[in-house]
Amino acid sequence: MEVVKIMKTLEQKHPGEAEYLQAVQEVLESIEEVYNQHPEYEKAKIIERMVEPERIFTFRVTWIDDKGEVQTNLGYRVQFNSAIGPYKGGLRFHKAVTPSMLKFLGFEQTFKNALTTLPMGGGKGGSDFDPVGKSDAEIMRFCQAFMLELRHNIGPDQDIPAGDVGVGGREIGYMNGMYQKLTRQYHTGVLTGKGLTWGGSFFRPEATGYGALYFTEHLLKKAGKDIKGKKIALSGFGNVAWGAAKKATELGGKVVAISGPDGVCEIPEGITPEMIDYMLEMRSSNRNKVEDMATKFPGKAKFIAGKKAWSIPVDIALPCAFQNELSEDDAKELKANGCWCCCEVSNMGCQPGAIHFFQKNGILFAPGKAVNAGGVATSGLEMTQNAAHLNWAPAEVDAKLHWIMESIHEQCVKFGTQKDGSVDYVKGANIAGFMKVAQAMLEQGVI
Ligand code: GLU
Repeated sequence: MEVVKIMKTLEQKHPGEAEYLQAVQEVLESIEEVYNQHPEYEKAKIIERMVEPERIFTFRVTWIDDKGEVQTNLGYRVQFNSAIGPYKGGLRFHKAVTPSMLKFLGFEQTFKNALTTLPMGGGKGGSDFDPVGKSDAEIMRFCQAFMLELRHNIGPDQDIPAGDVGVGGREIGYMNGMYQKLTRQYHTGVLTGKGLTWGGSFFRPEATGYGALYFTEHLLKKAGKDIKGKKIALSGFGNVAWGAAKKATELGGKVVAISGPDGVCEIPEGITPEMIDYMLEMRSSNRNKVEDMATKFPGKAKFIAGKKAWSIPVDIALPCAFQNELSEDDAKELKANGCWCCCEVSNMGCQPGAIHFFQKNGILFAPGKAVNAGGVATSGLEMTQNAAHLNWAPAEVDAKLHWIMESIHEQCVKFGTQKDGSVDYVKGANIAGFMKVAQAMLEQGVI
């Protein structure tokens, strides 16, 4: 395989799909060496097949807003790869959603899911619907309209969507209700991220953030460090940032900065449990202004408009918001302020320049597909509970999540250890995920 050649063909085939091409390039560059030691993969054209989604559905979603006006959005589901199990991955509701964004997310999801040790293929979906400022009734009508179409292509053994940016427990509830109404199928495992009384799993809302911190603990341990007393900056205002802030604090870390689209809140004494609860409240009411945090907690949180969390001096950076949210300049600023570790919790949260900078400058870095896999892994645990028609106790789910994150860390170490003994977590995660999917594709023939 020659990465340059493959990328050139892909760029011609999919012009302008920047995020998708970026995600593919990152994976191909890190697996090139290993891939070329496997002529059987080359012969079966595994890469050429793996970089294309198996299928994509695009549909119109029409709904009526509170003013009585008709609104039209686009809905998508990308069924990327089913070699190791049914398609699994979230739904993103955000005004910037495009097919390119969902293709990059579906591609990443395929490897991430492979890393979880569970039999799940990769998928992703969503809409350019913007939930910010929408009423609860509008959210419900949109979710119902979205499900009118999506229901044709999902099912517990086929494709199991879940939440992502803009989609949490409330949206999953509205979609699940509509799915059952339309299909008269009452299997609890059609969507994951459900409420606890109707098939959900303990810890699913917290799982991405909790898993990220369990992974971070292992990474720090391997490097001879620990999280206690360390200053942490994080970005984002969804479930993920909330879970990360909660677990980081529980483990003895000090979250001193959180940022949103409007700026950053500096919290010199560290985030408090009340502030963590408030993060969740803000997410449920579709507000995403971090400034509200400073207004609510005067004297404890200071708002700085237009600045990112990466401008505050910390030990550890945890991007938890959106792809490409941390640039090379941000990485330089972090280092200049003493940061020595960045665990990417968002999907592709760091720009390629930032990753290269971290790696060149000895800053510990781990990619989203390893760090944030606890979310989808717990979705996998939810599917198992649904299939068995039972509910595991919180301690059982937490122990399994712990074990899965440890095993993802081990896979990264196995495939990413360099000659000098350091671990390249990007290489490790990409190679481990790739090998599993490639082998499964090879063994199942040309389909
Ligand atoms: N959206 C999450 C992710 O990026 C979770 C997906 C799921 O639970 O299926 O992995």
